[in-house]
Amino acid sequence: MAEIRVEKLEKAFGDFVAVRGVNFTIPDGAFFCLLGPSGCGKTTTLRMIAGLELPSSGRIFLGGEDVAFKRASERDIAFVFQLFALYPHMNVRRNIGFPLLCQGVPSSEIKTRVEETAKLLRIDHLLDKSVSGLAGGDRQRVALGRAIVRRPLAFLMDEPLGTLDTEFRDLMCEELRHLHDRIKATTVYVTHDQLEAMSMADLIAIMNNGVVEQLGTPQEIYDRPATLFVADFVGSPAMNLIPVADRLSKGAEALTLSGARIAIPEMREDAPGEALVLGARPEHIRFDDASGYRGEIFGTEYLGTMQIVTVKTVGASVKVKVPASINVTAGEQVGLAFLGDRLSLFDKGTGRALRSALHDGAHHG
Ligand code: ATP
Repeated sequence: MAEIRVEKLEKAFGDFVAVRGVNFTIPDGAFFCLLGPSGCGKTTTLRMIAGLELPSSGRIFLGGEDVAFKRASERDIAFVFQLFALYPHMNVRRNIGFPLLCQGVPSSEIKTRVEETAKLLRIDHLLDKSVSGLAGGDRQRVALGRAIVRRPLAFLMDEPLGTLDTEFRDLMCEELRHLHDRIKATTVYVTHDQLEAMSMADLIAIMNNGVVEQLGTPQEIYDRPATLFVADFVGSPAMNLIPVADRLSKGAEALTLSGARIAIPEMREDAPGEALVLGARPEHIRFDDASGYRGEIFGTEYLGTMQIVTVKTVGASVKVKVPASINVTAGEQVGLAFLGDRLSLFDKGTGRALRSALHDGAHHG
């Protein structure tokens, strides 16, 4: 298995730059997600790592070797597209063993490796069955088996669960993660689904318009979004982004919202722009009659033990996550209090998070 590193990776299609200046290092054995909306450049980045697309510039290292201009077949990488693509006329054993047959591996070794792989995927009892009769989950496992039997340096997966319904997708996410924990293969996984990325990845790169907006662990990204885009993209419901009229300087520990004083993590830099945005996750706000920041309850969405309440304040619509046991009535006036040490502040002009005490101890970007 191997570390993957990309440096200043760029890809232009004519005048259009799909990937610009992308840098990241994926440690050996990590599960890495490229996450972002449709068209942000994640598939193009993956295809360059796979060798299916040549970069316009930049470098790609696989296990320390620069492979940017090597053919896909010379890179020892398994690219998993849709997990359903199987050879329907072959049984499970032959489907899994086919890549080894193509490599000219002796048949006794094929037998051993196919059986080991099938055991790992818990489909060893299906080896002599036809793939056409298999249930969806088993078909996915066979397709995965065909990828892992080669023992490549890394796995690349492009929305492998894209066509599945939600329930089955959750199951396969868990399965993929367990498989990864067992074989510890460096994996690059492309998805537009933040829940998929947050639940599976060790490390996530969030892409937008061809650039990596943030690189970090799921928790770092959730707790300390580096940009407004990331703050809005990750989290369900999304982080509240509330316009702030104050100008703040380094050392500030509070701001004013509709006349109310709100404590914030101590600012470690001056806010450069005129306009600021306060970021607060719904679970970091609660009802508090003593708060001067007030609004009117607009509606509520029950989630079993919790509820998401929408409160209209002057200039913002704020979502608050509170226990379902709290009674709320539309039209009621409420005060809102923020968990001061969990708040983010963004410069609206650049979209960048301002450094504050919130970032103390951060490992990435
Ligand atoms: P999706 O999930 O929709 O595939 P993505 O984030 O994977 O999105 P890419 O497929 O990498 O995005 O595409 C990034 C941009 O590059 C898109 O605007 C796409 O139209 C463009 N693009 C991709 N391949 C080509 C190509 N061969 N020629 C021209 N433009 C391309």
